Amino acid sequence: MTEQKQKRAFVGGASQGIGRSVAVELARLGFCVTAMARSAEPLQATIRSLPGEGHNYLATDAADRARLEELVTAEINERGGYSVLILNTGGPAPGPVARASENDFLQAFSQHLLVNVLLTRLVLPQMQAQKWGRIVTITSTSVKVPIPNLGVSNTIRAAVSSWAKTLSMEIAADGITVNNIMPGYTKTPRLENLLRNQASQRNVSEETVAQEWEKTIPARRFAEPEEIAKVVGFLVSPAGSYVNGVNLPVDGGRTPAL
Ligand code: NAD
Repeated sequence: MTEQKQKRAFVGGASQGIGRSVAVELARLGFCVTAMARSAEPLQATIRSLPGEGHNYLATDAADRARLEELVTAEINERGGYSVLILNTGGPAPGPVARASENDFLQAFSQHLLVNVLLTRLVLPQMQAQKWGRIVTITSTSVKVPIPNLGVSNTIRAAVSSWAKTLSMEIAADGITVNNIMPGYTKTPRLENLLRNQASQRNVSEETVAQEWEKTIPARRFAEPEEIAKVVGFLVSPAGSYVNGVNLPVDGGRTPAL
């Protein structure tokens, strides 16, 4: 087992929700965090909330992959590579798969798969050189059991899981692990959007929908984003060194599959 040398982490979608909590957890564990998302202001707030020093942010829309590559390359050249890469971004818009357009699929494929491929290509050389790295994707339990009304998401997540599993087998000998975290319902702005969408479709209150969804969870409650972040923290810690290539639901037991 190689010792980790560099404590730098890149966290996608870090301006709110799960990504923001992961940034806090990694900073708490002593990592220097680069927080990425679309807008500077909430990212600055994230950075201010992090314990420790030397954190940075990159404000860009990941849809512009050329710009993302430019910013990440410049940061790596200036400050060195990352030993931890958290692949996280906003989920695709809800809706039935039969009504999704070609463009909806292309956008989601780009934001969820091609961005992961790009960021991994940029960080991998340094991880391989230091023989240590942790790559964690934040996906969804829909890889195990598709979730109604999340047609595009269900479709694209399977590609991400398959890509990550393949990658994990290719680079494990370099001391790098690749794992997928599958959050259940987690209290973030994304969940608020999904509740709003469902409530307006059915003309009921958001509270009614929230209560119905909570009943489907054996734990009978939604997760706090910190509960997802702690599991990421475990995967990047020495305790997680032999966990590789897994799809890990963190869902209060909701997913009805082995
Ligand atoms: P969120 O929408 O609250 O936050 C998403 C983050 O990604 C934000 O920081 C946002 O600025 C950033 N982002 C979105 N689009 C971007 C783009 N084009 N370029 C750069 N940054 C972008 O989401 P969340 O609830 O924290 O969820 C994170 C991931 O986990 C998503 O993929 C989501 O679908 C998945 N997930 C969430 C839940 C849940 O209940 N919250 C459940 C299962 C899966």
